[in-house]
Amino acid sequence: MSGGSDDGRHGDDPLTTGLIHHRYEPPAGFGAVPPAVYKASTVIFRNVAALRARNWKEKTGYTYGLHGTPTTFTLEERIATLEGGRRTLLAPSGLAAIVLVNLTLLKSGDEVLLPTNVYGPGKELARQELARLGVTHRLYDPLDAAALAAMIGPQTKLVWLEAAGSVTMEFPDLAGLVGACRARGVTTALDNTWGAGVAFSPFDQGVDISVHALTKYPSGGGDVLMGSVTTRDEALHQRLTMTHMHLGLGVGANDVEFVLRSLPTLALRYAAHDAAARRLAAWWQTRPEVVQVLHPALAGAPGHAHWAASCRAAAGLFSVVFDARFTQTQVDAFVDALRLFRIGYSWGGPMSLAVPYDLTVLRGPASAGQGTLVRFSVGLEAVEDLQADLEQALAVLPP
Ligand SMILES: *Cc1c(COP(=O)(O)O)cnc(C)c1O
Repeated sequence: MSGGSDDGRHGDDPLTTGLIHHRYEPPAGFGAVPPAVYKASTVIFRNVAALRARNWKEKTGYTYGLHGTPTTFTLEERIATLEGGRRTLLAPSGLAAIVLVNLTLLKSGDEVLLPTNVYGPGKELARQELARLGVTHRLYDPLDAAALAAMIGPQTKLVWLEAAGSVTMEFPDLAGLVGACRARGVTTALDNTWGAGVAFSPFDQGVDISVHALTKYPSGGGDVLMGSVTTRDEALHQRLTMTHMHLGLGVGANDVEFVLRSLPTLALRYAAHDAAARRLAAWWQTRPEVVQVLHPALAGAPGHAHWAASCRAAAGLFSVVFDARFTQTQVDAFVDALRLFRIGYSWGGPMSLAVPYDLTVLRGPASAGQGTLVRFSVGLEAVEDLQADLEQALAVLPP
């Protein structure tokens, strides 16, 4: 484009003004499989009246990149559909989504209850940051709904649920726990990262809020950090939206693009991770080196009946507890000997991962002497190759 402009906005210098205020607009109606990726801090208003009439809360229009773009709105709607909810907010990580829920619902003098097997950083958040703000917390047994009901007091304003619990994989009595909270009018927030919206429908279980680390299965690539907070209740969503806005939580358009691209294959990938993990978990049950295989879909695993009551699938995650005759150093040597299973946190990507955990640190001194636990995230490699890898690595253990 050179020189002249129709409305006087395009300027005369083609190398600077002309390239910034360019008048070309592509034809409307472009159709493609992926939704477009829009990037913006500034959002342009047509005129001052439009600026004054802005309404970022309803998300019916655009005001500023932090408050939403067509790209983030699109992912929010799809996550709401996935979770069976109505409204979703995106956060820069799963942990940030957990922070958002806590800071929206809790104030000084309140108490939050967490399951004993809660995601570790969520427990640390309560211990360090929430405590500093005057919010107390206590831990409850996720398999004992009556005990939770007895713990709820006038200060209890939020109960976190996690299904299955992190690392030790106990599947909670969701119906019982949610029932106990609803009977006392206490808000429930489920960390639904494990179920991913696929294994069960969180709102059918009666929870108020579903939080999801999109970092895991929805991303599926081991390359994105993102979280979501989904609700069915509009008033609760509005409270979360205000706090979300005040905290300045935003997500990058390119990260949203990755998740949008991965979502259509989520159910297929989840099923593949599930099938492979169940085969390997069943194989571990035949191994003399371990005393327990912690996978909620295995008969006899803690919470298995609760899993069977509410789930149609399971994530590709499980843990094994090694016989106490093996030292921590020996179990570490087994993990080091793995070739396909790599050592690293997080899960949900194509590569299988293994992490040893100290049960005493996780669950307190009562767990002492129960052996070392290794958590496996099963990726998308051929199951036969993964089993052969485990077999060759077990060879480093003494007989
Ligand atoms: C990974 C994870 C999170 C946190 O997600 P990040 O995006 O890593 O912050 C929260 N809850 C559970 C159960 C997780 O596994």
